[in-house]
Amino acid sequence: MRLKNKIALITGAARGIGFAIAESYAREGAKVAIADLGAEAAAEAAGHIRDNGGEAMAITMDVTDEQAVDQGVRAVVDAWGGLDIAIANAGIQHIDPLDKLAFDNWRKVMAVHLDGAFLLTRASLRQMYQAGRGGSIIYMGSVHSKEASPLKAPYVAAKHGLLGLCRAVAKEGANHGVRSNIICPGFVRTPLVEKQIPEQAKEFGISEEEVVRNIMLRNTVDQEFTTLDDVAELAIHLAAFPTNALTGQSVVVSHGWHMQ
Ligand code: NAD
Repeated sequence: MRLKNKIALITGAARGIGFAIAESYAREGAKVAIADLGAEAAAEAAGHIRDNGGEAMAITMDVTDEQAVDQGVRAVVDAWGGLDIAIANAGIQHIDPLDKLAFDNWRKVMAVHLDGAFLLTRASLRQMYQAGRGGSIIYMGSVHSKEASPLKAPYVAAKHGLLGLCRAVAKEGANHGVRSNIICPGFVRTPLVEKQIPEQAKEFGISEEEVVRNIMLRNTVDQEFTTLDDVAELAIHLAAFPTNALTGQSVVVSHGWHMQ
């Protein structure tokens, strides 16, 4: 039990990577708050964790809504008496070449990733500083925090931006015992990625198999997808690390797609 009695809030945790982390955190003894857009999806995810013996609550939260984020963090603290781990995981993708990209779609991607991460960070730091027992903030970056791909300009820019936020939090949080790190996964087969396969096939005029083989997994060392378990294991490790030595770091988990 590497996270026994820790209290964690994870955004975008009703499905995909966020849910996998929530499940693994509950197995390691943490209490987990599942924050997501839809009340029903969040409640279902939290119920699933409770059915398997974990402790979980659901929070309805649009991470781009300042009030909703502040209220969500407060609800966790009111229910469980604190907050030890916050994970800014909620994310969206938008596929378009830059010359055809609507300003609105640029702004939407920026808002979910960057505004969302900032709002969660601020609400969590306020709570962690006041409680005086330190904490761990984790961002869900991507290999796209380090590399660019065509058709994904807003996502690439937002994920690069998260690196900067993570490092700024590491500097400011240190005096309060708050660590900050960023996970940078390669492709993981979640709904977010499943949706991109036909979109990219259409945009590039190639088959879906070719998208997977020649685009998504092309630069990995073994042509393998990164798994939900791989990312969840790293998220446990980062949260459970016992000292402030590990802060301000980005860890790439991508089958060697990006080596740093
Ligand atoms: P997903 O689409 O399966 O899940 C994303 C979740 O975020 C959904 O439950 C969705 O409802 C929620 N969400 C979206 N907008 C939100 C908002 N405004 N407020 C609250 N919740 C919101 O995606 P995923 O693949 O699990 O991605 C999770 C994170 O991992 C994202 O930040 C993504 O960029 C990142 N990531 C994914 C991959 C991958 O290959 N799947 C790789 C690297 C990084």
